[in-house]
Amino acid sequence: MTKLIAIDDGHGSETPGKRSDVIPELGRQVKENEFNKEFAKYLEIELKRCGFRTIQLAPTDYDTPLRARTDLANRAKADLLINGHFNAITGKFATSKAEGFSAHVHSKTGQAAKFANIALKNLSGGTPQKNRGLVQQNLHMTRESHMPAVLFEFGFMDNLREARLMLNVAFQKECAQEVAKAVCEYYGVSYVPESKPVAKYAPKPVHSAAAPKREESVQILTGGLNADSVKIIAEFFIAKKWWGQLQFEAPGNPRMLSGGLDPKMKTEYEAWLNERN
Ligand SMILES: [Zn+2]
Repeated sequence: MTKLIAIDDGHGSETPGKRSDVIPELGRQVKENEFNKEFAKYLEIELKRCGFRTIQLAPTDYDTPLRARTDLANRAKADLLINGHFNAITGKFATSKAEGFSAHVHSKTGQAAKFANIALKNLSGGTPQKNRGLVQQNLHMTRESHMPAVLFEFGFMDNLREARLMLNVAFQKECAQEVAKAVCEYYGVSYVPESKPVAKYAPKPVHSAAAPKREESVQILTGGLNADSVKIIAEFFIAKKWWGQLQFEAPGNPRMLSGGLDPKMKTEYEAWLNERN
């Protein structure tokens, strides 16, 4: 029997408090669920492609009670439960200095911790975000579920740089992919990567006057460069602790996709580039 993976998106879209601070270029807060539900959606796609069965514990936008979520996972006899969240401490960019992702488990020994550690390893290999590690915490979702359960926090809503990543599709997918790879590794199954036409990565104009406001979060794409050039750019991003994703889908055509940069970061990047040329 193929394993059944329960996926939980954490909150309803209108759950009070679960929001970022106001992101300047968006002129609004981002709801935690705007990230969580996209993560849950992409994780389901990833896991199904790898041959797993999935169940969404709170597929509606309503704030499903936690008890209902764990009851459903227990009734369905899910083999593993994955929660996707975005963290916050003070809720204000000005006062919170936290950053990074973490995996929360009810006990630091046992199967949940084993899976969580694989996922943390994959996440830190795939993203320059800080790895905050494994956290033992008494949470309803990880305590009341009868199967191994892990709650991931993928970043901080009150860290401006990370809050910008919440609406970044490449980042949402990256989180889902690394967790899906961990599920595969945990069960000894081969990960099946997404096959995409290369054209999907064509750069989009980001500064057209007609573009919606969220496009002001600048994206940089390095198509058509050789591997050494992409490596140099990637190293610059790593040094800056900016987010980027290396992509090798097209043989001989490596590229790096980055998003969540603000216009000032883009100016800095271009100045660095000019200096090298
Ligand atoms: Zn949350």
